[in-house]
Amino acid sequence: MLTAQTNTGKSICLGFDYKKDALLDLRSKEEFYCPICGERVLLKLGDQRIFHFAHKQGGTCRNFYENESISHMEGKRQLYKWLVGQKIPAILEYYDREIQQRPDIIFHLNGRKYALEYQCSIISESNFIKRTNSYQQKGYIPIWILASSQIHKKKKNIVALSNFQYLFLRTTSSGKFYIPAYCPEKQQFHLIDSIHPYSIKNVFVHHTFHPIMKMNVNDLVEPKVKLSFDLSSWTREIEKFNLNWTIHPNKQHKAFLHEIYNKNLNPFLLPPEIGLPVPHSLLLQTPAIIWQTYLYMDFIAAKRPYDLISLHEINFHLQKRLSKKQIVVRNLPQLEPVNPLLAITDYLLLLEQLGIIAKKGETTFQLKKAISIPKSNREREEAKLAFFQKYHRIQSNK
Ligand SMILES: [Zn+2]
Repeated sequence: MLTAQTNTGKSICLGFDYKKDALLDLRSKEEFYCPICGERVLLKLGDQRIFHFAHKQGGTCRNFYENESISHMEGKRQLYKWLVGQKIPAILEYYDREIQQRPDIIFHLNGRKYALEYQCSIISESNFIKRTNSYQQKGYIPIWILASSQIHKKKKNIVALSNFQYLFLRTTSSGKFYIPAYCPEKQQFHLIDSIHPYSIKNVFVHHTFHPIMKMNVNDLVEPKVKLSFDLSSWTREIEKFNLNWTIHPNKQHKAFLHEIYNKNLNPFLLPPEIGLPVPHSLLLQTPAIIWQTYLYMDFIAAKRPYDLISLHEINFHLQKRLSKKQIVVRNLPQLEPVNPLLAITDYLLLLEQLGIIAKKGETTFQLKKAISIPKSNREREEAKLAFFQKYHRIQSNK
């Protein structure tokens, strides 16, 4: 840890740049105590590690501080100095007795109170959610920042995100999603946005890197996110992914395959209108190709042109799929309660733009044109080409 108290109650914060000589001098005159448990702590001034305080062997408070890595201490120190340098009222390792939480940093900005956590180690999902909830109940806005080195880049614009990493997902006030990360070695922020998952783990993203000295605190809490997306690489990856899970299906995939074969569908001959990226797709853990196929089977396949589709009917089917866990919602504790219907309405809007359905009222749609199912690879390739042209026209008209 980086803060302790002297026996006169004076707080010593190593977030500032102390010279080693000054600290050696201080250490020879003062004793230091943990602000949480009151136990004596030692001021460590090694050459290898960052200067810090540590509980004595056998102290009872020790497990309170996860085994803090150098990288974690260095990261929170840099973030703290960065905030203070912008004249932001901030406290390093503030202990909130009421909720018994000690966020890495608390700070005030635009009348709001933030609890910042720079998280290098993996903690359990339940612990993450519990801490996030207690911050929110106490009026803090949590900001969890991921260690940038943990992000596993698979390709230039594809990363593998674990369920743990999805917990870091935040939203701007205009509803754009992003995950903030930080690297203390490079001293730069790494923001991930335009997040479009195509499987449970793999996701198309857009990366931006910002040296800490060039970034303002507002760019962290309200980054300017420009959505970017390339449908042809998306389609390529979806096709590879389809091949993968159909060869090695898990239990859920098997149930899905069983159901679609019963409906005379073939996972390799799905129409290009199924498996599309939509902005709220990340609210669902279930891959887009699977949940959109369920929607197709539930309320599109049996309809004929001019038939009506009500939002009530759509929601009824969605709830049924959710209760059977055939469609699974992600845990995203930093967002408002997550509404899976948002992903569905995004998709309906896209189908409307593609001329497949038309909106007839607040809660009613009408099928305009049936989605035709390709019977051969050749038909599918032709359908894909025609679809791409239409899709690009829609995107460029936006
Ligand atoms: Zn302690």
